[in-house]
Amino acid sequence: MKSGADEKIYVRYGADGHDGAMELLRAAGIANELKPGISVALKPNLVVAKPSSSGATTSPLVISGVVQFLRDCGVKTITIMEGSWVGDNTKRAWRVCGYDEIAKRYGVRLLDLKDDATRSFTVDGFDIDVCASALDAEYLINMPVLKGHCQTVMTCALKNLKGCLPDREKRRFHQAGLHRPIALLNTLLHPHLILVDALCGDISFEEGGNPVEMNRLILGRDPVKIDSYGASLLGISLGELSHVTMAETLGVGTTHIVDEDVIQIGRDGSRVVVGRLPGAARELAAYINEKDACSACYASLVHALYRLDKKILQRFTGDKRIKIGQGWRGAAGSGIGVGDCASGFVKRVPGCPPKADEIAKVLKERGELG
Ligand code: SF4
Repeated sequence: MKSGADEKIYVRYGADGHDGAMELLRAAGIANELKPGISVALKPNLVVAKPSSSGATTSPLVISGVVQFLRDCGVKTITIMEGSWVGDNTKRAWRVCGYDEIAKRYGVRLLDLKDDATRSFTVDGFDIDVCASALDAEYLINMPVLKGHCQTVMTCALKNLKGCLPDREKRRFHQAGLHRPIALLNTLLHPHLILVDALCGDISFEEGGNPVEMNRLILGRDPVKIDSYGASLLGISLGELSHVTMAETLGVGTTHIVDEDVIQIGRDGSRVVVGRLPGAARELAAYINEKDACSACYASLVHALYRLDKKILQRFTGDKRIKIGQGWRGAAGSGIGVGDCASGFVKRVPGCPPKADEIAKVLKERGELG
């Protein structure tokens, strides 16, 4: 499964999940590896029965884009498989999250992994029962949401595979601290492809409620690399993500990313509407002087600010609020500008859009703000 293409991460900007997913799969040349008669399984994140706008679950539009692409490639057998969190019901999630509708429209099978048979393994002294249908999938596409997590700080490709466990194992994984069991699980299950829904993930909690519109989809094959990249978008250091670094140690993938590994496609055409921001994003707007900012760019700044100490945030009030957005093009002066559009300020974070970790690094720097 490993090949030169494993090195690449494809990022497609924009809010349109359906067309975006199709464009991303085309750009990565995925049609070439779908041999005639192949059956494909999709593993989304439906941890709870909440719509994707909550920031918790994989958008049905991203799923429909992948299904449409597969159908266009002649794939006849497609299964969407998931087992919601212990406290929720997968079949309810199918309905609430719009998957029933997709299944009907495209003739796709929905498989509740809570009903699936399991097989037992022992990895590094840790026993794991894994759902057989996930293990046996001929071509498995892991489709996580990039979002915060109350226990593992972030959840993305590696942790999404926990949905391929029976409920008893999910409980045991939590009791064992999640990080190591997740890393070990990823030595058993090897999805052929990962397509991350980073359109709208929660800033801190896997069950949603504080969504941030990041407006991008991410495709790759190495789950460690994908998670490392996702962490940089959320401004989270790898030091906080033991499951990612443990997975690297176990040979699942690499945390090493260079700029040439990331192929960026398109632009986010949508603009943030600050007055409509929910929860944490609205509170953080107090530190931002936004003029016509793209949602993707604004999301990077929100994630960076969320991870900063309150004392640091206090530097960015009044006329020292952080400038961001296309309305700052050509402007110059004191203060901090985020993104290429606001590059005329004394301190600046280049990028279109920049990543949250790059923004946080500059915001943490002491010294004159101009
Ligand atoms: S730098 Fe400007 S054009 Fe680029 S994402 Fe940010 S606001 Fe949009």
